[in-house]
Amino acid sequence: MSQIRILQSNCIGCGTCVQLCPFEALRLLEGQANVDQDRCVVCGSCVPVCPADAIVDDSLPDNFMPRDSMVDWSIPDESGVKSNEASFSGICVYAEHADGALVPSVPEVIGAARQLAEGTGLPVSAVLLGSEIGHLTGELLELGVDEVWLVDSPNLQPYAEDAEARCMSELLAELKPAIVLGSGTRRGRSIFPRVAARLDTGLCADCISLSLDKETGHLVVTRPAYGGSIVAKIVIPHQRPQMATIKEHVFRSAAKVSTPSGIVRDMSSQIRVSKTVLEILEIVRGRADPANLLQADTIVAVGRGIKKAENLPLIYEFADAIGASVGATRAAVDLGWIHPSHQIGQTGSIVKPRVYFACGISGALQHTVGMDEAETIIAVNSDPNAPIFDLATYGIVGDLLEVIPAFIETLKVEKQQAMI
Ligand SMILES: Cc1cc2nc3c(=O)[nH]c(=O)nc-3n(C[C@H](O)[C@H](O)[C@H](O)COP(=O)(O)OP(=O)(O)OC[C@H]3O[C@@H](n4cnc5c(N)ncnc54)[C@H](O)[C@@H]3O)c2cc1C
Repeated sequence: MSQIRILQSNCIGCGTCVQLCPFEALRLLEGQANVDQDRCVVCGSCVPVCPADAIVDDSLPDNFMPRDSMVDWSIPDESGVKSNEASFSGICVYAEHADGALVPSVPEVIGAARQLAEGTGLPVSAVLLGSEIGHLTGELLELGVDEVWLVDSPNLQPYAEDAEARCMSELLAELKPAIVLGSGTRRGRSIFPRVAARLDTGLCADCISLSLDKETGHLVVTRPAYGGSIVAKIVIPHQRPQMATIKEHVFRSAAKVSTPSGIVRDMSSQIRVSKTVLEILEIVRGRADPANLLQADTIVAVGRGIKKAENLPLIYEFADAIGASVGATRAAVDLGWIHPSHQIGQTGSIVKPRVYFACGISGALQHTVGMDEAETIIAVNSDPNAPIFDLATYGIVGDLLEVIPAFIETLKVEKQQAMI
């Protein structure tokens, strides 16, 4: 098992490592550093700071060089000259996975990367980190990536996001892509800021368009800002890599290539993988998980027309009866009736279900941009002039507090008849 060891013959008892250890796993005993192996996660931060080379990380190969000596972290001078820019190249995609499969947004991120690379000759790679995930490499190569950078380690368990972020930082510092893209999923939002902070670089979240500046080659990202009231173009001119997460369902998925020509680079033995500090006691899949919404085949969405939070169980009963996820407008969220993770629209999730029930929703543009690609839209609204009816495949003018119970009753009757 990998661990941090102190070479007692070298240790000068200066205490530098003790002060620096983020996990309080080092202490001085009789003038010498000692490691509490129960606390140590083998993050490796202590190794490069020891002035006496007295700390060794057993998990690393002999020729491993600490991150700070591999990368030129220098910040450009005021004229904008980037001393380290030339050493970074290519576009790298974070290949998120769950339950042994790539998550649905991965083809979209690869699609965005391939589109960006088109005509530039920039290679597109995918970072694949996890435990027993080698079977996913084929799928990534089929999606047209040039290289899969694989780190397969038992320390990279689901939800070990601290360990994964440290591992990804090491990997990016080693392989130095100029651009790193991920998806704005819950996991992407957890991993990317940690990695950006560790690499001391910039990150733009929830981008809706990407391009390369023709003159400078910088990544130019577009994203809504100030609550969606403006669309901002952002560049990260002085730091590398340039990191961005993209909004789900905005970019077209990468088409599969008929004869994949990419390769797998297994970096498992070259990259330090520390242990997580987290202990997972139980995994509970909640209704408020936005992933449920993004992948849902059918959505029942609710707006201010529901009148009060106490009426929401009606919506859940209907959604349960037809196997749907529950979405909401910002008005329903702002009123505190439902958790923000249910919000659909410009500043919420963008969804593409087969069937979308809009219950008590007026059809404001900021909402409809998030659902107008649904195959079938069924709107229930008491106002015959509500704009949602312009978009709806089927419209029901009426009080949803009467229409939805009637739906539920009809479903119950049909179910009973089917059982006879
Ligand atoms: C910068 C910005 C970003 C935004 N982002 C989003 C976003 O991401 N998502 C989003 O949804 N909104 C967003 N909004 C808000 C958006 O503009 C609308 O205000 C919001 O979508 C309205 O929600 P609603 O349809 O629930 O409410 P309302 O517009 O108040 O509509 C309620 C509807 O319910 C109907 N109704 C009332 N009673 C009943 C009943 N008993 N039975 C049936 N129907 C009934 C009414 O006729 C009405 O049409 C954003 C706004 C801004 C300025």
